[in-house]
Parts: sequence; structure tokens; C-alpha cells
Amino acid sequence: MIRSLSLGYPRIGPKRELKRAVERYWRGRLSADELQAKAAELRRYVWESHRDAGIDLIPSNDFTFYDQVLATSEMVGAVPERFKRLEGLSQLDGFFAMARGYQGPQGDVHACELTKWFDTNYHYVVPELSRNQEFALDAAKPRSEFAEALALGIKTTPVLIGPVTYLLLSKSVDDSNPLGLLDRLLPVYEELLGKLARDGAEHVQLNEPALVTDLDPDAAAAFRSAYPRLAAAGPGIVLTTYFGALNENLAILDGLPLETLHVDLVRAPEQLEPALAAARANDWSLSLGLVDGRNVWRADLDRVRATARAAAAELGAGKVLIAPSCSLMHSPVDLDNETDLDDELRQWLSFAKQKLGEIAAVAGSMNEQPGHEESFESARAAQRSRTTSERIHNAAVAERLAGITEEMISRHSPYLERAVSQRDHLNLRPLPTTTIGSFPQSAEVRRERQAYRRGRQTLEQYEDFLRAEIARTIKAQEDLDIDVLVHGEFERTDMVEYFGEQLEGIAFTGNGWVQSYGTRCVRPPLIFGDVWRPEPMTTRWSEYAQSLTDRPVKGMLTAPVTILMWSFVRDDQPRERTCQQLALALRDEVADLEAAGISIIQLDEPAIREGLPLRESEHAEYLRWAVECFRLSSCGAADSTQIHTHMCYSEFNDIIEAIAALDADVISIEASRSNMELLESFVEFDYPNEIGPGVYDIHSPRIPSTEEMERHLQAALEHLRPEQLWVNPDCGLKTRSWEEVEPALRNMVAATERLRQLQATPA
Ligand code: GLN
Ligand code: ZN
Repeated sequence: MIRSLSLGYPRIGPKRELKRAVERYWRGRLSADELQAKAAELRRYVWESHRDAGIDLIPSNDFTFYDQVLATSEMVGAVPERFKRLEGLSQLDGFFAMARGYQGPQGDVHACELTKWFDTNYHYVVPELSRNQEFALDAAKPRSEFAEALALGIKTTPVLIGPVTYLLLSKSVDDSNPLGLLDRLLPVYEELLGKLARDGAEHVQLNEPALVTDLDPDAAAAFRSAYPRLAAAGPGIVLTTYFGALNENLAILDGLPLETLHVDLVRAPEQLEPALAAARANDWSLSLGLVDGRNVWRADLDRVRATARAAAAELGAGKVLIAPSCSLMHSPVDLDNETDLDDELRQWLSFAKQKLGEIAAVAGSMNEQPGHEESFESARAAQRSRTTSERIHNAAVAERLAGITEEMISRHSPYLERAVSQRDHLNLRPLPTTTIGSFPQSAEVRRERQAYRRGRQTLEQYEDFLRAEIARTIKAQEDLDIDVLVHGEFERTDMVEYFGEQLEGIAFTGNGWVQSYGTRCVRPPLIFGDVWRPEPMTTRWSEYAQSLTDRPVKGMLTAPVTILMWSFVRDDQPRERTCQQLALALRDEVADLEAAGISIIQLDEPAIREGLPLRESEHAEYLRWAVECFRLSSCGAADSTQIHTHMCYSEFNDIIEAIAALDADVISIEASRSNMELLESFVEFDYPNEIGPGVYDIHSPRIPSTEEMERHLQAALEHLRPEQLWVNPDCGLKTRSWEEVEPALRNMVAATERLRQLQATPA
């Protein structure tokens, strides 16, 4: 018999019930007991969804109130010192304190850091470990969740983050190497596995996605020393790898006593052969990750079954499992909750619940259970429709793509020549001041938008309101004496959604939520077909704003790589091609803005660093097309049009050459939190164009003083030529209030003015 395996499931609930419950608990509107009861209800829903679908290996302990890495820290007793001093908090509140910080009667401590989980948009809470770290097992959560499912008649596979990946994801507070703690950590895992075995667990799933990254010999040695001990401790080990290929790391596992190895065959289909060979040589079962856990498309069931058959022929059906590529937590929960998608689009899609159905159908049909042919038939019909639908394949778009030339990805003249014509054209003061685009999305802005969306206001009323906000924002910036103005982005809820809604080939779900971090969920757009722009998207607003002032107003666009990174992307063509289509649509928008009299255009690219592949050997190829797509969108501009870009949320030191290759005339970049350290890499590299390193942190409600920003600017001038330097905040101001923004910008302009004076009167 071939079996089916699920690695993990969304815990947020089909309608974000977990988010609502946790946030109500935080506000004191739900008791701890009520919260626990809600959680148990959601876990039951997940287990029963698996059982009803007919899944053989069903996960437990993939639930958490916030994050699975934080839950692991709690389980192994790795609580940073500052949280231990918060006496009298319940365990649950201590857990939330680590996630979100704590300010109250027990003390004032900042939260642990959040960072991206491999190459996903999920963010985990980074463990903080020290040289003398002690670990101690708290087995309550995995054991009680196992028991809870057992009481429902469902024997689950407890899911744990493997000890090596856990250590590799940690940061050291004292420059020691977290991997050096392995021998202290392993006894905790051994003790836990022993307990789970006694509780009745037959398998335990250890997630080791670090195995698809570049590993040094220390990490390899850690795997080799850990797994024989873990295998001896209790249940059979299902070792899971995902988000890429094992490649050379497969050899690390050779000889280890695993029960099952799971490999991601969606991201890395080429690893089937070596994985089969290793499984046979080592007498492991092989779990085939054949249904995409990271995307929303329906699987080609015939192809999945053919691969599974080939594997079964080689290993024997009893040694083959069919699985999603990774945990389904990265997929939206249930397509059945979508009421607004049209039937054609809907039949191309599969969310977590439907994906369970897909793996169960393949396993069932291979086991010759009746009733699965229908699933295969309808999957075939969906494939046929996707390969031929005119909504997906647009000949005009294909033709434009074929016509992309080298000239289209270069500006007419090199930067130094462009700078001269821009200076003539724009006539800006030295150290020009600007902002990143958005101004406060106040309660009033959100209220008016709701009123319009709910039909309580006409489009005209709503647009009158937007125009009034723009006028007020232009006036405020003039009063503040800012040099390059923005319209404020009041018409946008989100920088990707706004463009996605106006482009063909992109759809939106009503309920396709995916956890981003903690209780925050996002609803990524679905890029399902060839992308094109039926009409201008932003010119109306920019033109109106420009008509109100003599100062230049920046046109604001979201750049192609960022739209791509924050969406579910079609899987029937390379991402590069989809990105080129987005770039062409934006290129037309740039041309229209120019024609409307806009002489500065900003293309925001905050997510460019996020797309960097996990393996270094693949970085250059990604950066090549990412840079080309940005240039395709921006390089149609005349020399006298100044192209800006903006980046944030990351450190950019390691991709500085790619950033320079974007050849934007001006880049504004997050820098204040790192005290301008970032600039060192710009200098080392001798960055040629203009830069606005953010002089104040917009993520904090603090209002930075004139002196503080002046110091930042002085520091910047140690690294940059004065003609290179722009003055701006770190990022958009939409999350702040006008009461914070006005004084902060006033101080920013004052700091700039002082520096201008100093520059004008050399000592
Ligand atoms: N222009 C956008 C804004 O100001 C940029 C947002 C971002 O970088 N994330 O809101
Ligand atoms: Zn930003």
C-alpha cells in the first residue's frame, strides 16, 4: 500500500479565527480558557479535515498561537534572560512577551527579532542563544496535542523543528556558534522522543529545511552526530526537507537510520533519481513532495501519479508516500470559502484542503480504491482549460515580450549625462528633501474608503475626498518647505494590491489568507495569466497633484519584482517571463506619467532582496533577471526624467552591485536603524548615482530631533559626495499620524537647512 503524508496545515482557521481570538485575548476580551478552547476547536477542524480526506500520516504540534520556532524555543527551555525576569506572567503571556515584547507592571522588555523563514513570506521569531545556554524539556505541548488527537480517534505524527535547523536559525548573543550547543540540546530531543514513543507515537516528523541550503562541514557533522541518537530514542523518524534540492547534502544523510526521507519535487524535480537511489541504498521510505504547498494551482494528477508509480516500481509501494512539497501553512485554507471567483478561474485552483484531496486521490487510485477517477477527470479538464484559455494566453503580450531589445533595458545616456539634464530641468537645491510616498492613512481615509466600498458613498464623493486629501498634503509639504513632493497615496490600500487590481491577468480572493507572522495574515494577489495594462493606473492622481504646485511631484509606482514577490505566481512559465510582463505594463505607465508632465518617477522595489535564492550558486541568475526587469520598466524614460527607487525591510550590503545595476538616478533606502552602516558598502563599491539614506525610522512613534537627523546626515556626508545626497525618511508614512509626521518632517527640513548653511560657508 502506498501512503499519504501531510507535513503541516494552516493553523489560522478557514476565516482567520485564530487571529481574531488571539487579538481579543490580547485586548482582554477573551479569557485564557476561552482562547484555549478556540484553539482546540481549530486543531480538531484540522485533524478532521485530514481524516475525512483519507490522509495516512496526519501532523500534530504544527499548531501554535504565534510561531513554531518560538514554540520550539519554549519547548527546549531557551527563554532569553530578560523574559525570565518577568515574574508572575502565565506561561501563555510569557510566550506572547517573547513574541511581541512586554510593557506593564512586571517590566519593560523588547520582543525577540523576527526574520523570514527561508525564502517564504512567513516570519519566525529568532531564538537567542548564548555560549552557556542551558536547555530543559517542556514536553507539554507536543504531548498534549498528540493526546488530544488520540482522544478523537486520530493517531498523529508529532511535528518538530529538527535540532540542527533550529540551531542554524538561531542567533548568538555573544558571538559563539549556536551549533556548538548541539550536545546540550540533543538530550532534550531524546527525552522528548522517548516520551512520545511511550505515548504511542509511531512516527515523529523532524523538519530540517536547512538541508537545502549551503552547509559548512560543521553543520554536516551536526546532522551525522544527531540523527543516530534521535533514531535510537523512540518513534521512526520522518526527516523532511523542502524549498529546494538537497544536492550535495544528500550525502550527509547517507547511512543515517531514518524511517522516511521527504524531498521537495515541486521546487526540485531533478532530485527524484538521486533520492530514490539513496532511499534504496539506505532502506528508507521516500516521501514525494509532488503537490505544491507554496502555490495555489491545482496539481496535474496524472503527472503526480506517474512519478509515484515510477518510485513505487523502484522501491515497492510500501516504501513510497505521496505528500505536498512542504507544510500547507503557506497555502490559503479552503477554496470552498471563495464565493466571488468565477468558475473558470476557480477550477484552476487548489488551496490547503483541496491539496489534501489531491494527494489522497493519487494514493487512493494507486491502491486501487474506487471513486478516484472523477478527481483525475476533473483535474485533466482543468489542465486543458489552463493551457488554452484566452484569459491566460494573450498573443499581443507574447509578441511584445518577443520584441524586448537591449536598447529597452538601457537609459539613453549614462548617469553623469542624465544628471546634467535633470539638474537643468528640475533646478533643485543642494541636499534635496523628499518623502517615500505615502502620507498618514488616517481613520478618516479608511472610513471614507469603507463608505464607498459599501455603497454608502458615490464614486464622485469618494474621489472628491481623495482630491481634498491630496491638496491638503501638497499644501502641508509646501509649508514644510520640502523640495520634491508626493501626492500621498490615499487611493491605495496596499502598494501591490492597487496595481494588481488594475492589471489584467491578476485576480484577488476574498478569503485567501496566509500567515505572514503572528496574527498578521496577507492575501496575496493571484497572477494567473499574461499581464497587461488596459489603461493608465496612476496618472490622474499624479497629474492632479502636480497641477497644485510649482515644485516637482513624484509619480509613484510599485516596481515589477516586488509585485511578483508578494503574489502567488503562475507556474506554467518561468517567473522571469511573468516579471517581464509586469515590467512592460509599468513601462507604459512611466511613459504616460512623463506625457502627463511628471518629471520624477519612483518605482518602489522593497522586495528585491527577498527573491534571492537559498543557494548562492543561483544568486547571479536571479539578480540578472530581477535587474533587467526593473530596467525594462524604467529605462524608457527620457534623460531629463529622474527615476527614483526605494528599498527597505532588509540589509542590502550583499547585493549592492545589483542595486547599482538598476541604474536608478536616485535610490532612497532604509538606513537609520543601522546608523548609516549601510553606507559603507555604497562607498566601498563607489556607488555612482544619488542616494537618500533614510534619516528617521518611521516604524517608531518617536519624533526624531533636528540634531539627531543632522548627525545622520553628517555621517552620510563622510561617505558620500554632497551632490549625491538626498534627505528623506526611511519608508512611507502611512502607518503614522499627522501629529507625528509634521514635527518629524519639520525637524528633517531644519537639519537639512543647517547642513546647507555649513556647506555654503566652508570652514
Ligand atoms: N511608496 C510606498 C509608501 O510610501 C513604499 C512602501 C514600502 O517601501 N514598503 O508607502
Ligand atoms: Zn519602504
